[in-house]
Amino acid sequence: MPVIRGSPSADEALTAVARGGARLLEGGPIAAEIRGAVTEDVAASVARTGRRPGLAVVICGRDAPSMVYLQQILRSCERVGIEGRLVEIDGEASEAKVVETIRDLNADPAVNGIIVQMPLPPAIRLRAVVDAIDPAKDIDGIHPLNAGLLRLGYDGFLPATAHAAVEILRRSGIEIEGRRAVVVGRSAVVGMPAAFLLVRENATVTVCHSRTRDLARHVKDAEILVVAAGHPGLITGDMVRRGVVVVDVGINVVGGTLVGDVDFEAVRPKAFAITPVPGGVGPLTNALLLAHLMRAANVQEERALAAAAAEAPAVPARAPQRPPSAPGGTVPDQAVAHLRGAR
Ligand code: NAP
Repeated sequence: MPVIRGSPSADEALTAVARGGARLLEGGPIAAEIRGAVTEDVAASVARTGRRPGLAVVICGRDAPSMVYLQQILRSCERVGIEGRLVEIDGEASEAKVVETIRDLNADPAVNGIIVQMPLPPAIRLRAVVDAIDPAKDIDGIHPLNAGLLRLGYDGFLPATAHAAVEILRRSGIEIEGRRAVVVGRSAVVGMPAAFLLVRENATVTVCHSRTRDLARHVKDAEILVVAAGHPGLITGDMVRRGVVVVDVGINVVGGTLVGDVDFEAVRPKAFAITPVPGGVGPLTNALLLAHLMRAANVQEERALAAAAAEAPAVPARAPQRPPSAPGGTVPDQAVAHLRGAR
């Protein structure tokens, strides 16, 4: 039974499960808290630099399946004061055109972070696109450098969804250390990074995928279950153990309704805590992207200041008031401080 830190006793937790009242792990309030901190960081950054931090969202046509998600990110940018820019590649988007666009954005000092519409059109190789993104602007952690940093346990940009899946547990006070965690899904952007993050939190992690034999047996063993498969109803009530904590990352549209990968109604009575879909991991993913953007902006600002100081050492500089760098090149601004410990 995962322990809620600060809860009166494990017995009470068991009683809660017995009542069929799994705690809802809602992403909205946590996201609002993060957005509030980001808003303060943005204001401080604008006061120092005189300009708003900028995010570029690259799309290859407005009929992209991820368009709604990307529009939501741009709206969230507006709410916290970040300059969101939709960079649309008109007509037939070739790989060369996408790569050239990304390189231009890498060189643009007004752009602090870049995200690219996924999935890409079939003619464009994912690897060519992710390799083109400057790792310092890769706020969704898809560049191989950031993926490698995560694998090695160093500071880098985390894929926002995987970060959200683990952050929702941490912020909800669910103890992860020492727990048996099962991740269903092994994609490079969700399943695997979530698994690495759980290992970093000292869980004992099993990763399942479409070739896993007897998925139900593995799932039954989970004290913490993270599901990111893209299959509605994949996890049924009889598959889970009593007292499990469930993070449902899946987003599927069934009969016009948004549902996760977990049969919510059947699993909830057996679970200790569960994320709803919608309203669980999704809102947190969005807010964490903004926090990653702010972190990128702060690091880039610091690097620019260092480069300027190196070029003009004789000029008595009145250094702008910047907080000192934290280890690993990050800056302990408020929003980032909220996230420290998750990396
Ligand atoms: P993906 O690239 O399609 O990967 C799906 C993974 O699930 C693969 O590793 C696949 O195994 C595994 N899988 C598929 N069917 C399975 C089955 N029957 N049993 C066990 N494993 C199975 O998808 P993704 O990009 O990781 O996204 C996963 C889900 O998260 C989707 O529903 C997506 O919409 C959602 N998502 C949510 C957010 C958010 O903010 N909440 C953000 C991004 C994505 P193989 O590797 O063997 O093929």
